[in-house]
Amino acid sequence: MGSIPNCPVCGNEKLSFALKTIDYTVSNEEFSIYQCEHCSVRFTGNIPSLSQIGKYYESEQYISHTNSTKGLFNKLYQLVRNYSLVSKRELVCKFANKKSGIILDYGCGTGSFLNEMKSNGWSIKGVEPDAGAAQKATLLNGIEIGDSSSLSSFIRESVDVITLWHVLEHVHDLHPTLNTLKSILKANGVMFVAVPNYQSFDAAHYKQFWAAYDVPRHLYHFSKKSMDNLMKANGLQIVKVLPMWFDSFYVSLLSEKYKKNPIGPILAVIVGLLSNIIAFFKGNSSSLIYVIKQK
Ligand SMILES: [Zn+2]
Repeated sequence: MGSIPNCPVCGNEKLSFALKTIDYTVSNEEFSIYQCEHCSVRFTGNIPSLSQIGKYYESEQYISHTNSTKGLFNKLYQLVRNYSLVSKRELVCKFANKKSGIILDYGCGTGSFLNEMKSNGWSIKGVEPDAGAAQKATLLNGIEIGDSSSLSSFIRESVDVITLWHVLEHVHDLHPTLNTLKSILKANGVMFVAVPNYQSFDAAHYKQFWAAYDVPRHLYHFSKKSMDNLMKANGLQIVKVLPMWFDSFYVSLLSEKYKKNPIGPILAVIVGLLSNIIAFFKGNSSSLIYVIKQK
């Protein structure tokens, strides 16, 4: 185990070991997760560098970037995703207080969400580091997408909305990226950041099997407190935190699969439901959407 850097969110040196987990989808390699004693973010230790991480995304099972409808699991995933696309659009319109405008989806994958926004009158811009996914976005949805470096060519204060749907936990240059995104966002613009929440019931239940640790692709594992710290440090503020009700089921199903539990799907439904019931009363659902504005 190499040396562990300072906290990637707040720079604090006081860190504690949290747990060891495995890359269940691609490499089967083991990674340690650490926790910052100040801001409570958890982060993956010994992460592959930006030039090395590509191979950890090369998997048939890594369905985030594909549109496969093979098998019940993928079918269900697609069904929920279509519903989620509409919910996300409605959420954006509500908090941006606009029916149309300019939206940047950072880490847009194959462009499904941008396609949804475009179909409803929005001007769209997409950034996606994965060249294969970007190519699919053009092929499937006719959307032109820039790579990570294209972010620097955006005009300051030029977009109404920026979305990062399960993306920020993958970003190597955390602070510089947020800083650039903030500069692109209009003064009255809104940013939406969705990330898994390791303080959820399903995370506590599945521990090292919790699928949303997804090492080493997930570099950070956020709590509400750490997200608050991160945004404040970049001149942004959280104005609302919202639950994502489907993620508890999706993550529990995958976690049971990693546990190789024969009655996993049944248990996953129970754990997912329990997680949501607890989250309904206490907050801390499996994934959270942070609604963010300029400070
Ligand atoms: Zn910290």
